[in-house]
Amino acid sequence: MSIISAPRGTRDILPSESWKWEYIINTASQTMKDFGFSEIHLPIFEHTELFSRGVGETTDIVEKEMYTFEDRGGRSITLRPEATAGVMRAAIENNLCAQGSFAKLWNWGPMFRHERPQKGRYRQFYQIDAECLGISNAMADVEVIELSVEIFRRLGLKNLEVVINSVGCEKCRPIYREKLLQHFNAHKDELCETCLTRLERNPLRILDCKKESCGHVADEAPDIFDSLCEECKSHFDEVKKGLERLGFTYTLNKRLVRGLDYYTKTAYEILSGDLGAQNAVAGGGRYDNLASAIGGNKIPGVGFACGVDRIMLVMEEQGCTFGNEPETFAYVAALDNDSRGAVQILTHELRKNNIASECDISGKSFKAQMKNAGKYKFACIIGAEEIAKNSVSIKNLTDSSQVSVPFDEAVKYLHEQAARF
Ligand code: AMP
Repeated sequence: MSIISAPRGTRDILPSESWKWEYIINTASQTMKDFGFSEIHLPIFEHTELFSRGVGETTDIVEKEMYTFEDRGGRSITLRPEATAGVMRAAIENNLCAQGSFAKLWNWGPMFRHERPQKGRYRQFYQIDAECLGISNAMADVEVIELSVEIFRRLGLKNLEVVINSVGCEKCRPIYREKLLQHFNAHKDELCETCLTRLERNPLRILDCKKESCGHVADEAPDIFDSLCEECKSHFDEVKKGLERLGFTYTLNKRLVRGLDYYTKTAYEILSGDLGAQNAVAGGGRYDNLASAIGGNKIPGVGFACGVDRIMLVMEEQGCTFGNEPETFAYVAALDNDSRGAVQILTHELRKNNIASECDISGKSFKAQMKNAGKYKFACIIGAEEIAKNSVSIKNLTDSSQVSVPFDEAVKYLHEQAARF
């Protein structure tokens, strides 16, 4: 029988990597708390309509990347391809932004998109996501960008670039769309096949095309800044001023439109110089129409998502540290088989007193146990002599010194020793 492997585009996060993963999540979690964001846990699957209406029918995500299936009750269900629509759904359903109040929420977890896998692009990938709901002021956009930059600063990421744009609103975008249509129609023969279909359905997405010939046409396209309405213009000015106030440098990119329809006004990405083709570590922006698109009252929002897989790649590439590798403090070894019971009792006591400890549970010889103990700080040894004296021999594995401690005082002794590290 053939061996069953993980599905294409998925991967296992093994113990050699998972402790680094935990460091990234803990750092993000602490930063979120410091910025006043509370964690929210959401379902991994939602009704398909949430994404088709929220993210947009003509987006790549909805058109070709969703994992959609019919459940046993005949409902169309989709594994979430992104988190924002789910957060907004939860906020509406649970009335989190009632009567003009606001909610600052974050979450992290797996997302699913049926894309062509490559370095930094997976079909199951992980995002850390923050959303500030209920505030239309540009200060919220600045705070969200500040938050994403701060997470990366704490993680020690270097060589990052903040790229911003404004994609306008329902008032000014149709005017811009018309200008784009005129321009792209005049250069139809230079567009790739995908962009020709975008021309019909969503011409803004052509600006985002990575193909060279489309890129040239897009570079020559009318500038969105010339089409923004007064409100969008002044909002964008406030965002830029806010970033400058905090001492952030940013690049303007009129071609940054991002792949999700719900964006209004601010769109931004954080790019890494160390990632190759998939160079975005975070992306986000404002989405003032998402709530109404999914059937709620108007709730403005701004947020971002960053890819944990990509953060990990950049951190490895840049030699960043991940805090300390987890270590177990004490190893409890049995000199002979008769002492194994006492060893298990002592290990149990140590664990109950928050002393990270392990003992052999596979029946290894004393010599093999002590070989294992090498990576610990202390070895607690119990044999016939210790049992007779109701004591434990505790060996400091750094300097090889050894003491005999009454069995009942082992916890106290190791606590004192731990305080010295
Ligand atoms: P998006 O939801 O497309 O705006 O993506 C936000 C962030 O999620 C990106 O900047 C990436 O860091 C990450 N990301 C998006 N798609 C993938 C993927 N297929 N594999 C790994 N990371 C991804």
